[in-house]
Amino acid sequence: MDSPTADIAAETLLDLIPYGEEIDPLALSVLAANLQAVVGLRTCIRPFRDHPEEAFIPTRYQFDAVKVLDDLCREKEGALFRMGVIQRDLCIPILTYVYGESQLGGHTAVISLHRLHHIDRQVYYERGAKIAIHEAGHLLGLEHCREPGCLMRFSKQLEQLDLLPMRFCPACEYEIARLLKKAIQNRH
Ligand SMILES: [Zn+2]
Ligand SMILES: [Zn+2]
Repeated sequence: MDSPTADIAAETLLDLIPYGEEIDPLALSVLAANLQAVVGLRTCIRPFRDHPEEAFIPTRYQFDAVKVLDDLCREKEGALFRMGVIQRDLCIPILTYVYGESQLGGHTAVISLHRLHHIDRQVYYERGAKIAIHEAGHLLGLEHCREPGCLMRFSKQLEQLDLLPMRFCPACEYEIARLLKKAIQNRH
């Protein structure tokens, strides 16, 4: 018999949910590996599913990020946290586009890989991972951080994101560990 501690260590904490089969499977693997390594979220990549059509805004040719979160919220089964990944462009009605959106201290987030392209594929993957980690920080309840070398810093442009290391500052890292522990305890 496994001890309860072993159960928690083996439990999937985040489901990565790819919308649309055009998403590069390697990008998903890089996201999952970094969410696990940097945030401590044991991540499982779920099967591809169709785009959430009710979130599509035909006049803008974009997906409404908040409605994608609604779609993920309807999910009754699966891990404690769910993160959608979409290749199409995301927006919220008041902004022209967003790289990602999450419920602060909630259960669902979504990121878009649409605007992350770079001639160097490695940079593209790193951008995706950084955005996923940033949104995971919001999911756990963290707000933006002013430290220059922290992934919770708000990046308006991709060039700013590219300069960030693949980690949180010590204060955010401490908070992440504390909030994650709390989220797991509250679940059991
Ligand atoms: Zn943010
Ligand atoms: Zn920080």
